[in-house]
Amino acid sequence: MSNGREALKARIYELGRSWIDLSGANLLMERVEDNDQSAEIRICCAPEAYLNGTHLGTNILESGSPNLMLCFEPGEELFEFTVLHEFGHIFGLDHEHQHPEADIPWNDRAMQYYARELGGASEEEVRKQVFNKRPSADLVNIGYDPHSVMHYPVEPFLTTNGWRVGINAELSEKDLSFMREAYPH
Ligand SMILES: [Zn+2]
Repeated sequence: MSNGREALKARIYELGRSWIDLSGANLLMERVEDNDQSAEIRICCAPEAYLNGTHLGTNILESGSPNLMLCFEPGEELFEFTVLHEFGHIFGLDHEHQHPEADIPWNDRAMQYYARELGGASEEEVRKQVFNKRPSADLVNIGYDPHSVMHYPVEPFLTTNGWRVGINAELSEKDLSFMREAYPH
């Protein structure tokens, strides 16, 4: 980690590790000295980080530094969700709301809403991050899970029938099953 208060860094590490600790996946994670450029996951956190983002799976190994940006702090509503979600991407998990079996009844306000939420993203970018379903062929698919931490919250005013997903701030049973399947002993 390149910056940040110790309490924040310790909490980020604990949340990241919980993917492994709770699932028993065959992965090893250890925290090294700050600014160790040989680290595979190189984190910039609040207050320097201005957005949340990372790379999918082993793409992180070909990325510059930092390769994980986390702009929230403990106490903020989306902190746990965001840290777990971004680490999920690093472990190779894709967006659950874009699961081939997801059938979210988006209404016509949703595009504009997510464009703003994603910091003024283009329609193409919003489709890529939120609406387009992933091609099944590229996925390890264990079934759609609206409780996954990889699912964006869905506000009821963005769907045609008030359907919603809250802030999934804990790893779901299926999140943990996926880890065991992807990283077996
Ligand atoms: Zn994401």
